[in-house]
Amino acid sequence: MSILDEPSVEGRFGEFGGRFVPETLVPACQELEAAFRDAWTDPTFRAELNQLLSEYAGRPSMLTECHNLGRSLGIRLILKREDLNHTGSHKINNVLGQAMLAKRMGKTRLVAETGAGQHGVASATAAALLGMSCKVYMGAVDVERQSLNVFRMKLLGAEVEAVHSGSRTLKDAVNEAMRDWVATVSETHYCLGSVMGPHPYPWMVREFQRIIGEEAHAQCRELLHGEDPDFVVACVGGGSNAMGIFSGFIDTSTARLIGVEPAGGAAVGRGVPGVVHGMRSYLMQDEYGQVQEAHSISAGLDYPGVGPEHSYLASIGRAEYPTVTDAEVISAFQLMARSEGIIPALECAHAMAWIVREAPKMQGKVVLMNLSGRGDKDVGQMMEILG
Ligand SMILES: *Cc1c(COP(=O)(O)O)cnc(C)c1O
Repeated sequence: MSILDEPSVEGRFGEFGGRFVPETLVPACQELEAAFRDAWTDPTFRAELNQLLSEYAGRPSMLTECHNLGRSLGIRLILKREDLNHTGSHKINNVLGQAMLAKRMGKTRLVAETGAGQHGVASATAAALLGMSCKVYMGAVDVERQSLNVFRMKLLGAEVEAVHSGSRTLKDAVNEAMRDWVATVSETHYCLGSVMGPHPYPWMVREFQRIIGEEAHAQCRELLHGEDPDFVVACVGGGSNAMGIFSGFIDTSTARLIGVEPAGGAAVGRGVPGVVHGMRSYLMQDEYGQVQEAHSISAGLDYPGVGPEHSYLASIGRAEYPTVTDAEVISAFQLMARSEGIIPALECAHAMAWIVREAPKMQGKVVLMNLSGRGDKDVGQMMEILG
């Protein structure tokens, strides 16, 4: 398989991916795959989606060069501004695609899982726009941490259900959303928020997010007079914003691709291959093969697994997956706010933290970072942390 092709017929990226779901869900996954294939090769669908992305979501998102930070770090630092999209993150790219696909399939209801709430907000937004009903599952811990986003989803007309099982975070919300989908599949589409889950989700979500990388590649060529950046850096929860931006550089450049994970949720760094949420991928497990709880300061990265294509890219050495600590993230968050006047989401502050730490080894290099979202949702949490 060459990089960036679609996965095998079984949905495999190398030894990763696949479709490990209960028998009742196999037809639903097959129906979705067929519908996506049909839509993605239909110029009318593509044109309608592109129109929504530009007129509603605000694409293309721009590049911003950080001259102050670049000067102090000794690098050229360029941001891809996904924080400027409608609803404040890259999630809207995928959600508009899936919601339009669900409508085309005749579905009237979306279910979604959410961690920090950004995917829930994007799903509620798309449902409101396209006249669908929406239910969002969210771990009870995250409901506490992200009360502003919970209220936002309700304002948009969605129902939010707090999940009290397991660690009461993202992993548990995914389980509940899948359970709902099994029970209501004739009218419901499961709008999954990252490049994970059973085939076709990892591939489909990557295709919906690759617009980030395609735009960034063309924009960099213009800004850098035909050159590519030396490094492309993104944070990794499930891995959709990273897969999106990597897609533009993976086989068209020699840029080093860096996916930054939280130290407490280092699926690639500390995990071993296993099966979770319908896919085979690197996964944090204990000695008995039980899924381990992830920890991160950022609810959006609190996930013990990672999308299968990232596991594949790690296994062939095309991308690297270092980690950063919460303390490094907190100082990177403040540094970006003070130096550039941009308050980043805590998720992408992970990417910034890696860049700050590694800058001495990257002197004079061009570093493209995906600013996957804005930090408004995290201001309350930071207020508590910083006192
Ligand atoms: C959800 C989220 C992430 C993590 O999800 P990925 O699928 O890994 O991209 C990262 N950044 C922001 C701003 C998010 O909202």
